[in-house]
Amino acid sequence: MSFYRTYRPQIIDEIDNANVRAQLLALLSKDRKDLPHAYFFAGPKGTGKTTAARVIAKLFNCEKSTKTGPCGKCEQCESIAAGTSLDVIEMDAASNRGIDEIRQLRERIGLSPVSSAYTIYIIDEVHMLTTEAFNALLKTLEEPPSHAIFVLATTDAHKVPPTITSRCMVIKFAKASKEELLHALQRVVKSEKISISDEALQRIIEVADGAFRDAVKFLEQVSFGKGKIEIAHIDSVLSLSTSHNVALFVSFLYGKGADVAKALTHIHGAVSEGADIRSFLIDVLQYLHKELLSRVSEKNISPDTKNIERIIHLLTRAYSELRYSPIPELPLELAVIESFQAPAPQAGVQPAAVASVPPALAPKTSTPPAVPPVAAKPVPPAQHAPPVAVPADEPEVASLGLLTQEKLLDHWSDFITATKPFNHSVAGVLRSSRPKSVNGGIVTIEAFYKFHQEKLADIHTKQVLSDVLKKLFGEKVKIEIVLGKK
Ligand SMILES: [Zn+2]
Repeated sequence: MSFYRTYRPQIIDEIDNANVRAQLLALLSKDRKDLPHAYFFAGPKGTGKTTAARVIAKLFNCEKSTKTGPCGKCEQCESIAAGTSLDVIEMDAASNRGIDEIRQLRERIGLSPVSSAYTIYIIDEVHMLTTEAFNALLKTLEEPPSHAIFVLATTDAHKVPPTITSRCMVIKFAKASKEELLHALQRVVKSEKISISDEALQRIIEVADGAFRDAVKFLEQVSFGKGKIEIAHIDSVLSLSTSHNVALFVSFLYGKGADVAKALTHIHGAVSEGADIRSFLIDVLQYLHKELLSRVSEKNISPDTKNIERIIHLLTRAYSELRYSPIPELPLELAVIESFQAPAPQAGVQPAAVASVPPALAPKTSTPPAVPPVAAKPVPPAQHAPPVAVPADEPEVASLGLLTQEKLLDHWSDFITATKPFNHSVAGVLRSSRPKSVNGGIVTIEAFYKFHQEKLADIHTKQVLSDVLKKLFGEKVKIEIVLGKK
């Protein structure tokens, strides 16, 4: 059985969502017969609505209920947990079967429960009901038989007529907080004896986006291997799974996890998996839009909030440039690079981010970025480097066309700037090197120092250079490095 089902909270105390737990506990002060007969659960997917609905079912049918609510152990509680209770009827209004079941609802509602005191009808995605079905439901809610209990759940509360919700006790399911998610994950980690670093747990929490189900499912997904789960493993799994792509990608754009190289690697990964850049960009913008609105409504105007605003501008521009771009991912990549390069209000994020290199591209023998790259010529300070993104009104980079030596010479400094996010010191070495020839898909770069030649000739470095040229000119080339005479 999956972790999510195995570790689904069974009693009120186990419910991870503090607000929901409190509201259910408050019900215990009343006699069962005085409890509301209809409940309306509203909230995003994966926030525990079905779990809480089953706890409600137990609340009514548990044989050994205590001061803390249903016992979770009696025959009734166990059959409800297993989904085998004949008196708990779960319907999904979004499915065809659900529609049929709701049609039959009015006929069967008069029937007494089979083996319990109450029949509990759980209708999931209730907003999907047709008008007729709503009307039928409303009639039932107006005069429910004393043994019938309704739990209506929805991810889209505003689509449910107020005539329905006003007859229910409404419980809102907010997205889970980080603490609540941690609480839920730790329960699984402990029982399954999973070894996982705190950092890795935090990463799962970040990408779960407030959904218990996603967090626990993801923990299960990464816990198959042996040994301790580290954050690198999480990230590599994430880059392959599409559902969390957007949250992970956004985590690379700003804040503590900001890292231009990881963001670019992520785009590369998405493209190679066949992701549609347009819809990916829309998803990212929607995500940032929500984030921005929630920060503004919380009056959280931190440097990060300003940064989000700026990233939204840049990505919106990238979106408008998409249709003219011969390489679909190019505008997005340029926007990402620019978001890191232009002077942001908080400078703290940038050096760390720019210095790191995507694992796949990192030269194994790379010099630490702290070493001054070139001794031969004065190197302009990094912050004065021109932004790699060409302004929107000059879509030049996107249409540079076939690579020739002249073009490469003309755009040598663009090439260096575009290399910088991947590897600072390589960019420095390029500054004192030059393109010697472009011929038959081979770009020959001339270095003038032996150690420069060696650095550029590193197989990973050549891959980076080739990738950057592909981005700029749309052409896949091989890189050769020769040692020239000064
Ligand atoms: Zn029980």
